[in-house]
Amino acid sequence: MTQEFDVIVIGSGHAGIEAAHASAKLGASTCLLTMNIDTIGKMSCNPAIGGLAKGQIAREVDALGGLMGLATDAAGIQFRMLNRSKGPAVQSPRAQTDKYKYQDWMKERLFATPNLKIIQNTAADIVTEQNQVRAIRCLDGQTIKTRAVILTTGTFLRGLMHVGTEQFEGGRLDEPASNELSNSLQKLGLALGRLKTGTPVRLDAKTIDFDKCERQLGEPHAQPFSFLNDSLDRPNIPCWITYTNQPIHDLLRANLNIAPMYTGQIKSAGPRYCPSIESKIVRFADKARHQIFLEPEDEAVTTIYCNGLSTSYPRDIQRQMLNLMPGTENAKIVHYAYAIEYDYIPPMQLKCSLETKKIEGLLCAGQINGTSGYEEAAAQGIIAGINAANKLAGKDPLVLGRDQAYIGVLIDDLLTREIDEPYRMFTSRAEYRLSLRADNADRRLTAIGKTVGLVCDDRWQKFQAKLEAIESFKKYLHETKVHGQSLWQSLKNPLSQLADTLADDPSIKQLGLTPQVIEAGIIDAKYEGYTIKQNQLVEKFHTLETKKLPAEMDYSTVAHLRAEAREKLTAFRPATLGQASRIGGITPADILVIQIHLKKHYKTQKSQN
Ligand code: FAD
Repeated sequence: MTQEFDVIVIGSGHAGIEAAHASAKLGASTCLLTMNIDTIGKMSCNPAIGGLAKGQIAREVDALGGLMGLATDAAGIQFRMLNRSKGPAVQSPRAQTDKYKYQDWMKERLFATPNLKIIQNTAADIVTEQNQVRAIRCLDGQTIKTRAVILTTGTFLRGLMHVGTEQFEGGRLDEPASNELSNSLQKLGLALGRLKTGTPVRLDAKTIDFDKCERQLGEPHAQPFSFLNDSLDRPNIPCWITYTNQPIHDLLRANLNIAPMYTGQIKSAGPRYCPSIESKIVRFADKARHQIFLEPEDEAVTTIYCNGLSTSYPRDIQRQMLNLMPGTENAKIVHYAYAIEYDYIPPMQLKCSLETKKIEGLLCAGQINGTSGYEEAAAQGIIAGINAANKLAGKDPLVLGRDQAYIGVLIDDLLTREIDEPYRMFTSRAEYRLSLRADNADRRLTAIGKTVGLVCDDRWQKFQAKLEAIESFKKYLHETKVHGQSLWQSLKNPLSQLADTLADDPSIKQLGLTPQVIEAGIIDAKYEGYTIKQNQLVEKFHTLETKKLPAEMDYSTVAHLRAEAREKLTAFRPATLGQASRIGGITPADILVIQIHLKKHYKTQKSQN
């Protein structure tokens, strides 16, 4: 008997998990179709969630009702707030996790999600009729009918791994590549590109001499990722820091002629901001050493991830490199580092909803869209899940603005930039980062998650109680005066130290507020002036953002538009004038020309009516 679902999510990585969970929660009968159910939520690379800008994204996914924050809180083994000494806009939570616990938590949660069926199989073909999704055909010949498909296949499409001169097909270490699906996408008329990423060696922890390394602990009071948790009772397991040195650099330089990155064997672009060790010694040739973090992959500290040593050098060079590094001289390698090249869908082929422009009902999320990182994948996954379910229910897609969320910045960048290297998020990509903070992700997004239908009653009640507490704390700050000045005014003074000491003040302690509420009140006071200025900029931004461009607009008929602008606009087909203005090579003069064209076109239409 042929099975049938409203939505099929292909892949159970970080994008697939959020997509399947969101779609099922919104009432669509959902199938999570994945090659191997034992790899649900697998961390292909570093065993950590969060970090600069990524921590903000993880909090946003949580605020909308997603799973990433909860799983991190359940599986974390070391929590830190990065940039704590800097302003709140650039502070980001990061957690090392027990990667196996993370997977188990996700798997258990998905199996308990109503409306969601998990099937282990490999998708080989997307069946369409008149450019509309109808079914999925699996490698074993089985067909599953559906009205929407969300593709979240990560690095698996025509995955080709490299270790020295050895090349072998695979989606990830010891997992098969997905070649048939690439062929199917090309047959549907979708363009595919190639990207590269890489991962470092994993070591047997008991064979490392940690006495030769610096020890780094997390913060004693772990700050939860999920807004559902006020505090956490998790272990604080150290990681260790060691360094490369001149003999290692000499070894690597002497062997560049056999490094696939430099022999022409690897042809695609890798992440510039997360470079391999060979790229580092070439690009930063004058640096005497590079920092390497030795990070435990599990609570029992059985294996160690060598953060900073990503490479595709041959195995013997990897071995010699470790022999020369303090602490790892005698370390046993559990698995060698490798690089992987894979197909991705250049995301200019997507709408704001993450549905492909060409095939109705086909959405894409995660690494397949040219991004890198678990958080970036989860962010797209939750949006794709919501939008697949919304579409089938006849509702408008959820599109977050650049002023509302890093998720909005991420998706807008994917739609307006040429993605020719793996895209990762940075705080510098967000022009409104002062308001897109990790601490206020709930205040920005939980009401949206509630309207969409993803936010459960518990979360909503907790959020309402927090809002009330923040408001009454702010009232207290306005009304309480010291030396004739309100606490609120004092906090706004950049020279005042009050923010650092307020939480420990006995009169504040008496109020019985959570640290999160006190933090919110203090930040609101300190940044009131900046927030007002930023809101004015956001208003200006909205004037272009709300001007929709007709989907059928023929840019070749726009008088006085430069040839380059015509070409770019035809390729990207932006949804709004704001999006058009962010496409590389589009000038303010081009925007003016389009505005004039729209006015004329609008007038003509009116006079015809
Ligand atoms: P994935 O987590 O890769 O999940 C893909 C899922 O799709 C899997 O469940 C797979 O089984 C399934 N699947 C694939 N094809 C099919 C099919 N035909 N049918 C059914 N199921 C299918 N990120 C960083 O931020 N920094 C790094 O340095 C970094 N290095 C990396 C190095 C390597 C070698 C790899 C593999 C990944 C690396 N990543 C890195 C990327 C990170 O792992 C991904 O960004 C993230 O996992 C992407 O999530 P995803 O959900 O898009 O895909």
